[in-house]
Amino acid sequence: MKRTRPLQLRQVTLGNGAPVRLQSMCNTRTSDAVATLAQIRQLTHAGCEIIRVAVPDTDAVNALSQIVAESPIPVIADIHFDYRLALGAIAAGVDGLRINPGNIGSEEGVRQVAEAAGERGCVIRVGANSGSVKRALIEKYNTLYPNALQQAMSEALVDSVLEQCERLERYHFTQIKVSLKSSDVRSTVMACRCFAERSDYPQHVGITEAGTLYRGIIKSATGIGALLLDGIGDTIRVSLTADPIEEIRAGVALLEAVGCRKAQPEFVSCPTCGRTQIQLQMLAEKVEATVQKMKSNGIAIPFRKIAVMGCAVNGPGEARDADLAMCGAKEGHVMICREGKPVGVWEEATAFSIFERMLQGENDVSI
Ligand code: SF4
Repeated sequence: MKRTRPLQLRQVTLGNGAPVRLQSMCNTRTSDAVATLAQIRQLTHAGCEIIRVAVPDTDAVNALSQIVAESPIPVIADIHFDYRLALGAIAAGVDGLRINPGNIGSEEGVRQVAEAAGERGCVIRVGANSGSVKRALIEKYNTLYPNALQQAMSEALVDSVLEQCERLERYHFTQIKVSLKSSDVRSTVMACRCFAERSDYPQHVGITEAGTLYRGIIKSATGIGALLLDGIGDTIRVSLTADPIEEIRAGVALLEAVGCRKAQPEFVSCPTCGRTQIQLQMLAEKVEATVQKMKSNGIAIPFRKIAVMGCAVNGPGEARDADLAMCGAKEGHVMICREGKPVGVWEEATAFSIFERMLQGENDVSI
């Protein structure tokens, strides 16, 4: 993992080899502190570690003190165009700001924000996305790389972010996190890699405007996954046009898939084929839902790996490697194995209820 400078947001350390942190953003009105806090708690329960809220006006600023005081996780205020909102958010005790020094107001406004954030230990994320990069920068790199527009965009993003960092460094502010985003996956990955070569500021990585649930998860997993496998990325957000809870579910699965988090338990299932003689998809979904419910209720699952396989071709192989497994035995019947050894064969519905009891730690599965 690439070493970056450490940052502290309340109890959450990021950068410098700390675990990759998962973020989302509330879609409630921030001025409605009760609704915003309810969503923050729901997201925290699902695995969110840092939350961002939009602060478009003074009503939102006025709600921040309560939100910060009652939120179980660090709160980042997302502010554009008005440095006075940023000063208000810092005074309310937010743990971080997401601003763009280029649009926050005059140089004097940037100075006041940098100094106030420095005094209060408030982290600032600066970022560029393909829509906000200055035209002149894009033209400069388009001229340099006329046949490589993604390269041009990625270098323009890096220059844009470095320029924003310098604007804060002028006032001796270095508690900075950066983001370089494009809705184009390759440009984003190139920009983040390039920035990591040139700076050790921690990076928040994600694909901007990734899209609706299905396509958005694929784009985010491709881009964020590639970067995490390179050891780049200190915080992530899977941006989706969907309920923010889906962002956290996808983010947790992504962190597990690239090995940044240990899945507990790891869950594998086969894709089914013409040999499948059981309702495998339904069984796999029921097992996954049971595991999810137990985890949400704080119930420890005493297994490292769980497998649900369709038939005897690959089933027993996977089952041997799993602590607990179901695999298709014959038409409508499932064999359960524990630690690679067959426990018995039952009709599907019975097998599932026995499997469920075993998941909960029951050893005597006689029926
Ligand atoms: Fe087909 Fe069996 Fe492989 Fe599943 S485990 S995909 S049913 S061969």
